[in-house]
Parts: sequence; structure tokens; C-alpha cells
Amino acid sequence: MNFHVLTLFPEMVSNGLNTSILGRATEKGLLSFDVINIRDYTLERHGKVDDYPYGGGAGMVMQAEPIYRAYEALTEKIGHKPRVVYMTPQGKVFNQKIAEDLAKEDDLVFLCGHYEGIDERVLEMIATDYLSAGDYVLTGGELPAMMMIDCISRLVPGVLNNHVSAEFESFHDNLLEYPQYTRPETFMGKKVPEILLSGHHANVEKWRREQSIIRTLERRPELLEEANLSKKEKKFLNQLLAEKAEAERLAKEAEEPSKSPETEPVIAID
Ligand code: SAM
Repeated sequence: MNFHVLTLFPEMVSNGLNTSILGRATEKGLLSFDVINIRDYTLERHGKVDDYPYGGGAGMVMQAEPIYRAYEALTEKIGHKPRVVYMTPQGKVFNQKIAEDLAKEDDLVFLCGHYEGIDERVLEMIATDYLSAGDYVLTGGELPAMMMIDCISRLVPGVLNNHVSAEFESFHDNLLEYPQYTRPETFMGKKVPEILLSGHHANVEKWRREQSIIRTLERRPELLEEANLSKKEKKFLNQLLAEKAEAERLAKEAEEPSKSPETEPVIAID
């Protein structure tokens, strides 16, 4: 898979993507990173790439021309028009499903804005997707692009040593991952759950699925609406929900004892 990043800060992106798992995957030829300096494509003197916004207002806006020229040079080089993902807080918030969709592409372009953003006209001409890292504003699109590239790269076959591991991680089946443990068996008096030492694969799998459901219910209950659960797992979830509702009812009762019928104060009538 080939990632092409259009940026004004190429060192930031190159340094971040050439380490650890992604660095090794590049050496193996599974991934390639083509970091393009937008400034190399300006026709203005002194490498100018931004200007004041029409209509006034704070900050500078990245100009359309250098970005369009950089994009044109790229499409000529690779011989087709790939998807161009613009990093913007105004986009759809990135998630694992979007990563799975993008991982099907052979080439992907990440366009990183800076300052107050990019002239709208070039976005209308080249951007195919608008993606956000989350509902907050950063100074540039480089960190979101690196984050998304990292996530997509892990889905490219061969990038992770054990290709099974991406399949069983958080968000697979819309569930969070079960808790993980490694040696030693006892740490500061805390023991690893007995079942993980049993060597009984089917029981371990069942325990892990149940832990995933418990954890998702505790931390990200909204994910469960679209979780891929078997009949037995749905029953397990319903049981958890019933226990949770009962615990909440009891807690509420304990907080407001005066409202419970048994403890209603008795009014003495002469
Ligand atoms: N004025 C823009 C707005 O209000 O939508 C924000 C500009 S921001 C300071 C500069 C650049 O950072 C953007 O063009 C975008 O590429 C990037 N950026 C900032 N926050 C981001 C986010 N949450 N997700 C993705 N990119 C972001």
C-alpha cells in the first residue's frame, strides 16, 4: 500500500512513520511513504504558500495553486487519480470501519492543512474524503494523518507479525478487547485469572468474549447496539443488563430511603 502525504512539514511526517512496525513494513516493501512538500510546488518567490483570507479575519489560508500542482505531479507519477483524504475537524470522525474501507486502496493521499486551513476551491477539485481526528482543533493535519496511516497500515496483510492479532482487537465485532495479562503469574499479590492458565482453549475463548462484552458495556455501551453477538452472547448481555438495572435500582433506593414505600414516615393522627 502506498501512502502519499501532502504537507508543509515533511520532516514531521517522515520521522513519525519510519519507526517500529511501520518502518519494518516499509523495509519489507509492504508499505511505502511518499511525503511531498507542498512548498516545492509554489510558483511564488520565497516559497510562499499562504495568504490573507478574502473577507478579512484572523490567520492565513493555504493557497490552492501549490496544492493543485503537487497533486497533479503525483497523479501523473502514479498514473491514476487516487482517493484524497483531507484532514479537517469538519470531517467525519475517523474510526476502525473507515480504516478498513481505506485499507482496500492501493494508493491513498493525505492532505494536511495548516494555519486557518486550505482555499476551498482546491478542496472541491481534489478532495474525495473529509476526515477528522476528533471534535477538537489542532494546529495541522500532520498528526491526524500519521494517526490514520498507522491504523490503516496495521490492516495491510503482513504488516503485523501475527496477522490474527488485528482481527481480535478492540472494535472487531464492535466490541472492546478483553483484558490481557503476561508473566509473572502474580504481581504485587494480584493473580492472573485462573481460566487463562487452564490451557482449555474453548473456555478461554468464551471467557474472553464475555469479558469483551462486560468491558464494552462498562466503557462504551453505545457500541453494543451494532455488536456482532451470537444468540448465547445476546442472552449473556441481557443478563448483564438486568443485573445492572437491579444494581442501579438498589443504589437509587439507598440514596432516597424516604421515597421507598416501606420507609415512608408514619404521620400520627390523634
Ligand atoms: N479554521 C479551521 C476550522 O475551524 O475548521 C481549522 C484549521 S486548523 C487550525 C489547521 C489544520 O489543522 C486544518 O486545515 C486541518 O488540516 C488540521 N486539523 C485541525 N484539527 C483537526 C482535526 N480534529 N482532525 C483533522 N485535522 C485537523
